[in-house]
Amino acid sequence: MRRTKWKKGATAKDKALAEEYGVKLTYWRYKGRKGIYWHLVSQYIRKRDFYKYGTCISCGKKFDKWEQSQAGHYAPAGNCGFALLFDERNINGECAACNNPVFSSGKLIPYRANLVKRYGERHVKKLDKEYSEKVTMKEWSQGEYDKEIKKLIRKIKKLDEALHNN
Ligand SMILES: [Zn+2]
Repeated sequence: MRRTKWKKGATAKDKALAEEYGVKLTYWRYKGRKGIYWHLVSQYIRKRDFYKYGTCISCGKKFDKWEQSQAGHYAPAGNCGFALLFDERNINGECAACNNPVFSSGKLIPYRANLVKRYGERHVKKLDKEYSEKVTMKEWSQGEYDKEIKKLIRKIKKLDEALHNN
């Protein structure tokens, strides 16, 4: 399987784009708006799961803060296709060890079991089906990315507000 290349350095253009959205990126997994969207999805998922569960979906390790967790895919990001790449139930808070495919070949078994506990067998079967049948969709246009980025920024803000009111 081809691994996703992690881009640590950003171009000046990427940085200016992130600034326009008021987003600060520490690394770029993808270029341009896709990189910004992934950064936001990752943050949303990690906050969501830290406050709801507080543990790694695969091994159950407890996190002290949301920043310790990573946004780990169930159907792997490298070959799951665009429909599953940003599917919020396909991505869950996971520890760095379990999220490393080199050292965690067996993690998918407990990951799946816990995913069923969280969302139900029917939903996980849907993910399985989409993955095995390579259900996909066309990647968003720049305009669609822009819309989705703004939507997700609002969603994270709402989540932050809800958490601070608790
Ligand atoms: Zn783990």
